[in-house]
Amino acid sequence: MKDENCIFCKLANGEIPTSTLYEDEDFRVILDANPASKGHALIIPKEHYANLYELDDELASKVLVLAKKMITKLTDVLGCDGYNLVQNNGETAGQTVFHFHLHLIPRYKGDAVGIGWKLGKLTEGDKEEILSKI
Ligand code: AMP
Ligand code: ZN
Repeated sequence: MKDENCIFCKLANGEIPTSTLYEDEDFRVILDANPASKGHALIIPKEHYANLYELDDELASKVLVLAKKMITKLTDVLGCDGYNLVQNNGETAGQTVFHFHLHLIPRYKGDAVGIGWKLGKLTEGDKEEILSKI
């Protein structure tokens, strides 16, 4: 299903022009308009799913295979030194477009891409609580 108010539905289905790196019946892979680094791309399904929780299982299994193919090819093309795959779910997690997408972010030695977090320490309380509930 498409959502007529969703910009990524329009991008993925070619209603709005994009810098398309790859396309098949399920996905379009485009260059991000506000790249974190040179070559930052997005894998976008053609059907509308707001986030990973909603994503169809079959498509979910195809996404990582496609990501592997894309970063393998793009590493050759860009000459980058590594890759981060980022996928935000929910506003609190930094999601700004509510149509599932996977970021492919090339990394270059010495770049200024700020993906990281302050290391915490797993507490006994958290560990016991989570393991007892899962
Ligand atoms: P997120 O914050 O994970 O929801 O990521 C949304 C991403 O979509 C951001 O990196 C934006 O730069 C990117 N974006 C938004 N609109 C467009 C567009 N029209 N074309 C390409 N990328 C876009
Ligand atoms: Zn959509």
